[in-house]
Amino acid sequence: MAGFPGKRKSTLVKYIVAFITLLIVATLFLCLYFVWLKKGLDNRKAENASTDSKDLVVVIDAGHGGSEPGCVIGNIMEKDITLSIAHKVEKKLNSQNITVIMTRNLDEYPTLKERGEMAQGADYFVSIHCNSNTYNTSAFGFECYYYYDRDKKLAEQLIQEARTKGIVENGMKYGDFQVLRDTDMPSVLVETGYMTNERELENLCSKEYQLELADVIADAIGSMEENQ
Ligand SMILES: [Zn+2]
Repeated sequence: MAGFPGKRKSTLVKYIVAFITLLIVATLFLCLYFVWLKKGLDNRKAENASTDSKDLVVVIDAGHGGSEPGCVIGNIMEKDITLSIAHKVEKKLNSQNITVIMTRNLDEYPTLKERGEMAQGADYFVSIHCNSNTYNTSAFGFECYYYYDRDKKLAEQLIQEARTKGIVENGMKYGDFQVLRDTDMPSVLVETGYMTNERELENLCSKEYQLELADVIADAIGSMEENQ
């Protein structure tokens, strides 16, 4: 009976050694797993950094401003609606890591020439306006104007985005606007809707519709980049 406790002891030692070995192997695997996980995370971060740092610069031009109110219906002025939409576009583009240059941030009037100069070196230029038709107050819908052939792709994209989001659009049109003539990158002038149409004016003044319009513009620019 004397050897039995010794046998028990050696079995216990074996168990302890096996347990410690298992612990070491498990720790090793866990370490390897964390290294692999971190490497994956770093790779993803690097991937994001490469897609995010597009260095894309977009000029957002809020139409009119200051002493130049644009279309005025009662106490509602085009210059205020365009600035409000422009700020929403700026926010959305910034959240996509796109640099935005605003031709104006306040109720002031940079000349059309100055707006063109501010756009120099940028990738895209979008001028935001509201339409009016005093002869036909039932006219309504989103429109996009281009001047050069190089503007057409962006104009098309904007119309497509509007259609996708269920915004009534009248298609893209040729427009001889100074801001489009003076800029040397794909540039468009967006007529977001008719202020002379009572229902559309109500939409244009609502925060929800302005956010939808901002989505159209920001998503169109995003799609332009994806399709590059
Ligand atoms: Zn205007």
